[in-house]
Amino acid sequence: MSVLIVGSTALDSIKTPRRACAKLLGGSASHASVAASFFAPVKMVGIVGSDFPTRYIALYRRHGIDLAGLQRVEGRTFHWSGEYEVNMNNRRTLTTELGVFEQFRPALPPTHQTTPYVLLANIAPALQHHVLDQMRRRRFVVADTMDLWLRIARADLLRLLRRVDALVLNDSEARDLAGTDNLFTAAARIRRMGPRYVVIKKGEHGAVLSCPDSLFVCPAYPLARVTDPTGAGDSFAGGLVGYLASVKGPVERHLRRAMVYGSAVASFCCEGFGLSRTDRITRADIDARVAELERLARF
Ligand code: AMP
Repeated sequence: MSVLIVGSTALDSIKTPRRACAKLLGGSASHASVAASFFAPVKMVGIVGSDFPTRYIALYRRHGIDLAGLQRVEGRTFHWSGEYEVNMNNRRTLTTELGVFEQFRPALPPTHQTTPYVLLANIAPALQHHVLDQMRRRRFVVADTMDLWLRIARADLLRLLRRVDALVLNDSEARDLAGTDNLFTAAARIRRMGPRYVVIKKGEHGAVLSCPDSLFVCPAYPLARVTDPTGAGDSFAGGLVGYLASVKGPVERHLRRAMVYGSAVASFCCEGFGLSRTDRITRADIDARVAELERLARF
């Protein structure tokens, strides 16, 4: 089954202690769509400006991503820049230039409105609502978010939680949203706000899945060297939803394995700047890391 992914489509300028790279292909929808494309057909919804390089369109196409929902308009593409400290868990946003994003009102083509699996990747909650308003017969909806929306659009986000099946967020966002330092308490509280499933990402320490009757602790793939973690969270969510769309039967039965797949794709994302590493992998590479994670976690 196919996956609809809405989010940011951006040019990212990234600085790490070792290197700086300008105007890489980035954005939550780009990372998530490429990650999901290893498992299922992807329809991406986003907006880019007239400065968006054709080689990035070619990259989307190489991964079979349906671009009927990608608007191309006059103006500048969303540009985000960030800088990492030596400890790459710490990142500072330097600039966020919205450009054409300011006028973004996603209008779904009729072919997109009945897509069974939906990933509302990180983007303003009002836009995530706008996409859901246009969907019919959806089977499973996952939303991602970020600290910015908790600060400036909390009411919209709280309303969104009542409309989604699963929420993916990182540990500090979960603590903020739930008003507690304990992650397991936070996950349970967030589930009471609406989503049946809550996934809390903990970077290099993996992720936790909280279900109504169970808990799953998913390892992160142990990388010896991280080049650029930008987009790892988006890749995780994309891999997770893509995997769910590729298997049969009740979603709950597959969620744990879907998280491990998300974790494996995210690990590749961290090994190169932007999408450079993820662009070059195959499903077999991902399967090999999943098998390794399975061996590592067995006891
Ligand atoms: P992550 O590393 O998973 O937090 O995701 C990083 C990606 O998020 C980058 O590729 C950025 O282009 C994108 N991004 C940064 N700020 C925003 C924002 N305010 N809205 C949507 N996407 C953003």
